[in-house]
Amino acid sequence: MSQHPLPDHLHLDTLAVREAVDKSQYGENSEALYLTSSFTQPDCETAARRFSGEQDGYIYSRFTNPTTDSMERRLAALEGAEACIGTASGMAAVLLLCMGLLKSGDHVVCSRSVFGSTMKLLGSEFGKFGVTTSFVSQTDLVEWKNAITPNTKLLFAETPTNPLTEVCDIRALADIAHAAGALLAVDNCFCTPALQRPIDLGADIVVHSGTKYLDGQGRVIAGALCGSHELITKTFIPVMRSAGMSLSPFNAWVVLKGLETLGIRMEAQCQRALEMAKWLEAHPKVARVYYPGLPSHPQHELAMKQQSGKGGAVVAFDVHGSTSAEGRKNAFHVIDSTRLMSVTANLGDVKTIITQPASTSHGRLTEEQRLAAGIQQHLIRVAVGLEHLDDLKADLSRGLDTL
Ligand SMILES: *Cc1c(COP(=O)(O)O)cnc(C)c1O
Repeated sequence: MSQHPLPDHLHLDTLAVREAVDKSQYGENSEALYLTSSFTQPDCETAARRFSGEQDGYIYSRFTNPTTDSMERRLAALEGAEACIGTASGMAAVLLLCMGLLKSGDHVVCSRSVFGSTMKLLGSEFGKFGVTTSFVSQTDLVEWKNAITPNTKLLFAETPTNPLTEVCDIRALADIAHAAGALLAVDNCFCTPALQRPIDLGADIVVHSGTKYLDGQGRVIAGALCGSHELITKTFIPVMRSAGMSLSPFNAWVVLKGLETLGIRMEAQCQRALEMAKWLEAHPKVARVYYPGLPSHPQHELAMKQQSGKGGAVVAFDVHGSTSAEGRKNAFHVIDSTRLMSVTANLGDVKTIITQPASTSHGRLTEEQRLAAGIQQHLIRVAVGLEHLDDLKADLSRGLDTL
């Protein structure tokens, strides 16, 4: 069946619904789900050429599957990257990144405010294999620069951070990395390419947890790395082939379909988050709001420039509490008084999620480490979904108004 190739120079909204591998002979309009572990070969000669890489063709779904390919092509198009490789989870993407780029003796510089499991993987797990990591301030470029050693191979950043939404300057970090002959990887989970494209800003690799906004409806665990064709094919695919942190075709299909609504979901969720942040900032029972879209945010200007003028969909705030015990009691009261919001560990869902970071995502830190990270007992994080804003405000008011 003849198929028209996509025209050149399409907008992102168009690529988000159209970029994919060719349709099958049946002409399905929604991309097919190829739920198969392996692919039959027409003859031994072809099989030999495909296995050796001389000829393209699907072999085995640990490293080649058309549904996964479609997701990878679509996400690469959205990130402005030449290529992408899907992984079993966001953490599998970080694992693949490190296995591909690092060896014993190498050094990494990483923000102290990145996702907790990323810190553990770099700081503890890779430490076992002789990789050292320096953790530095999210926002102080001098600290990043001073941490560079002759063995530094990778700078790892995440912006904005969870839960305090601190923003770092991607372009400045890319310059620091490249001056040192290192690469910059950016975890783009919170903004997604709908708001922020790290590769346009000089980053070499984008890391994703597809579990969050890319799926967008809290259904599957998934991840990906985006980067140059050379990095993906020469550095990461061989590791994937041997180590097998592969994205399942089913999960790839769910993310593929999620990407179709990414732009409008992010737009609507950011809009609600901004309104909620403004409302919280004016609320007498709220001590402080952390949201890059507010002029009171310390990196507001940088965030507006770097994130397409949007603050993202995660809002954090401190309720009052003169002691840490009182802060915890007040935060628990607000969360337990909600009737709509989900009390759960995820984010990036169309269902609004509320958590107390000190006892959940950051519960494994000591109180001292938590305070150093600025995460106090009275802090609440809301990952804003798609419910009506008035209903969300009423849900928070139940607890806030009775503090
Ligand atoms: C959730 C998350 C991850 C890990 O992703 P999983 O899909 O849960 O493995 C990595 N980075 C950030 C910023 C996240 O929020």
